[in-house]
Amino acid sequence: MAFWGDYHTHTEYSHGKGTVEDNVQAGIARGLKAVAITDHGITGYPHNLHPAYFEDFLADVESVRLAHPEINLLSGIEANLISGKGDLDLTEVEQEKLDFIICGFHQVRIPDKADFFFDFWLPNFLPIKNRRSRIMKNTDAYVNAVQRYRVGVIAHPLRSIGCDLRVIGELAKEYGVYVELNSKKCQLSPQDFETLGKTGCEFIVNSDAHEPERVGDFSAVELFDQAGLDRKLIANWNRFPTFR
Ligand SMILES: [Zn+2]
Ligand SMILES: [Zn+2]
Repeated sequence: MAFWGDYHTHTEYSHGKGTVEDNVQAGIARGLKAVAITDHGITGYPHNLHPAYFEDFLADVESVRLAHPEINLLSGIEANLISGKGDLDLTEVEQEKLDFIICGFHQVRIPDKADFFFDFWLPNFLPIKNRRSRIMKNTDAYVNAVQRYRVGVIAHPLRSIGCDLRVIGELAKEYGVYVELNSKKCQLSPQDFETLGKTGCEFIVNSDAHEPERVGDFSAVELFDQAGLDRKLIANWNRFPTFR
């Protein structure tokens, strides 16, 4: 009984500290059957994979994959939610070259468009971020992103941005998207787990490692266990997830 793979790890292609090879070596050392490299992106800003290096990123993952047939290595991107319309910062061409996509909101993503800044980023900084109307707008943004892109994982719900977890859970269930339990920081309360559990959605537990030493950290599962949910709902517990 074990977690088979860690599907959210960063490297120096965005603002992680290790290389693709380092993360894979760490995954092998911890007995994992799979690791995904999911750098932030894809923009020209700090913290994110630069579009100019996207092909290098893919080639690097491919060469490490060939060198380590003992582990299943996947390529992904943790794309930023950048508008209420559900825009993500990766192109359709880039999306098609990846094994799967993670979607998350990050306050460090520098706003470069008026609608991103005024309609989405700024309101999520101001006190109005806690208003019901704002939370529903954020929730709509996730719904739109999942409808428009091949999102496989909704990253760290409730980090930096509010949303309606009942709607998110129903969305995840309908589209076959996994709701992430993020071991770097999991903001979900026992009540939140109960809300998500009722929707019938599936979960994935990841490290969100920004250094190789943290690859294979699945400690967020403790909160899941405390909430009394069944580990059969976790897509990387004793099985491989199937990304859309
Ligand atoms: Zn993130
Ligand atoms: Zn991350």
